[in-house]
Amino acid sequence: MKYRKMGSLGWQVSALGFGCMRLPPRTINRLRAKTDESIRIIRHGIDLGINYLDTGYPYHLGDSEKILGKALKEGYREKVKIATKFPMMLSSIVKFDPCLKTQLERLKVDYIDMYLFHGLNRNSFEKAKRLNLFEKMEKAKDEGLIKHIGFSFHDTLPVFKEIIDYYPWEMTQIQYNYMDTAIQATTEGLKYAHSKGIAIVVMEPLKGGKLANPPQEVLNIMKSSGIKRTPVDWALQFLWNRPEIATVLSGMGSQKMVDENCASADLSGINSLTKTENEVLTKVAETYRKKILVPCTACNYCMPCPQGVDIPGNFALLNHRSIETSRIWRFMIGRNYSKLAKSSDKVDRDNPNGNASLCDSCGKCADNCPQQINIPVELEKTHAILGRRKKISDYYS
Ligand code: SF4
Ligand code: SF4
Repeated sequence: MKYRKMGSLGWQVSALGFGCMRLPPRTINRLRAKTDESIRIIRHGIDLGINYLDTGYPYHLGDSEKILGKALKEGYREKVKIATKFPMMLSSIVKFDPCLKTQLERLKVDYIDMYLFHGLNRNSFEKAKRLNLFEKMEKAKDEGLIKHIGFSFHDTLPVFKEIIDYYPWEMTQIQYNYMDTAIQATTEGLKYAHSKGIAIVVMEPLKGGKLANPPQEVLNIMKSSGIKRTPVDWALQFLWNRPEIATVLSGMGSQKMVDENCASADLSGINSLTKTENEVLTKVAETYRKKILVPCTACNYCMPCPQGVDIPGNFALLNHRSIETSRIWRFMIGRNYSKLAKSSDKVDRDNPNGNASLCDSCGKCADNCPQQINIPVELEKTHAILGRRKKISDYYS
């Protein structure tokens, strides 16, 4: 494992961090996580040198923090730093002090190394100020319950800079990957936070897994470069190449993923990519960007939907349909869409499986999407294309 400077905090963080929001899902309810398998994978990652683990109050409906607490027994706690977050999206119903107490109990720790405002954007930033959450954070820090204060972010560059300038942050967690250099915090924001000595943790390095399975056109570009790398390795090395980034979180759901990502991290380095490699990545990003219709990262923040719509599942099929050129794959995607429930009596409430047509535009999910996707509108287009077999060009330019 390679280690890097954690901003101005004076400690070294593993190049690869363990994101605990995509643990192996349970069979009965796949929004939740399998305990024993998750513990095994997390400990395997720590054994390979990962020393930074990130979780969140709502991840896997609360399972993530509980599982991490169990995984950190038997001497593992002492080997790592843990990060979790106050859920701004639930701040009207979840109060700060009881929430932190619950998280410490779930994690079975006396303190949390890095405590974040979860998903700050224009509205939740104002809400954090209004609810005096900065003061509450500082009180928790004075009491030794948290060691450092940071925020994860989903909005635009001007909002990011405003938040950065508002408070002496110790870290920030941003969405960044070779596709997202000009949206969310952007490369400019990354440099701005770094110039202030703030530790930068990257999330969504594979854009919700999309960059792990690129379309054939993208694979052809990678192959014709003559450079042997997997699509995942390309995406991760792009990030580790940047001096501003402290660690890259990967949501790992199997031992194989942990092994592969740790092997990539072993080969990582700041400014290690050649001019040719950077050119390949630019070309790949340009080609890929044209294909993605809905920038869903499958974070599940919009779930569960009261109508049982599998929101990320529907968008994944739509994007897959856009990416695939082969007839057989298009047929398979259409078939997979037809397998989703078409009526509410067929919906599995524990395991949402409804197709896009079941959305009644109630708007309950609207404010929860960090990618600011207009979910009901995009679901309508999704059903038109996948359910009524309309042309993509009728709905997307
Ligand atoms: S707007 Fe549609 S997808 Fe969103 S919660 Fe309501 S029914 Fe579900
Ligand atoms: S639609 Fe938005 S909130 Fe829902 S899974 Fe996708 S990115 Fe996450």
